[in-house]
Amino acid sequence: MTARIIDGKAVAAALRTTVAARVATLPFVPGLTVVLVGDDPASTVYVRSKDRAAKEAGILAKTVRMPADTPQTVLLVEIARLNADPATDGILVQLPLPPHIDAGAVIQAIDPAKDVDGFHPANVAALAMGRPGLVPCTPAGTMKLLKHAGVALSGARALVLGRSSIVGRPMAALLLAADATVTIAHSRTRDLPAECRRADILIAATGRPEMVRGNWIADGATIVDVGINRLPDGRLVGDVAYTECLDRAGAITPVPGGVGPMTIACLLENTVEAAIRRRA
Ligand code: NDP
Repeated sequence: MTARIIDGKAVAAALRTTVAARVATLPFVPGLTVVLVGDDPASTVYVRSKDRAAKEAGILAKTVRMPADTPQTVLLVEIARLNADPATDGILVQLPLPPHIDAGAVIQAIDPAKDVDGFHPANVAALAMGRPGLVPCTPAGTMKLLKHAGVALSGARALVLGRSSIVGRPMAALLLAADATVTIAHSRTRDLPAECRRADILIAATGRPEMVRGNWIADGATIVDVGINRLPDGRLVGDVAYTECLDRAGAITPVPGGVGPMTIACLLENTVEAAIRRRA
């Protein structure tokens, strides 16, 4: 069997077009502000891509840049300003923050209605309880890829590899809400290859380059690789040994060109959602 490749780039492009068309019908311009503290090179690239994508969709995108030594109190004042700004519908604080800043406290300070990353405890609780809220972009994008690929979720055995608040946990909540039978695996899981082999759907989000080997997966399984890892030779790889899995998987996402582009597209969608809900 040769796996069907799930083309995240194409699905994301279509979603961005849909979002732009929706923005064009609105009687107002949705506003997204990204706050970048410090000059971490990867974060700078991400923030630039988010800014560009938002502008292309007709969203009023702004980036607030603050120096790496910004005191937490100053950052919190900025968040309060954005919470109160009627033109700002979405606030995203780019992570990671410098070590002297308590990221949890900063996220908690964001108005949940403007929390387009979906990391505020109110949105986390909404997702856990199956209530409406803003859903984290990477897991939301993964669900859209599964839907696009026509993967049946109800009753399927899904393994989420990784339990971070950004990817693993919300991913598991979304799969559960879609009636999958969900297992969450992590660094303490015993016999990980056996757990993986039981899965009809495997979502890899560990940050360990090519950790999931071809002989870890079931024939015909759907593999979604959330990982983005830069190797010393400069190559970008996921958490799945892609070439090894190609012959066994039923469908698989590539890296790059899989989940990555969906994350930004879902951020735009969340911004428009937040704007419409706030102004309803
Ligand atoms: P974290 O480091 O926060 O979490 C990694 C998780 O993987 C942890 O739960 C950890 O377990 C688990 N883990 C690590 N090593 C192993 C191992 N050897 N065996 C089993 N489990 C293991 O990472 P993130 O969730 O933030 O990101 C995961 C990956 O997704 C990264 O490659 C990141 O770059 C990528 N990413 C991609 C995005 C995109 O847009 N495509 C967006 C966000 C992230 P434990 O909890 O026990 O430590």
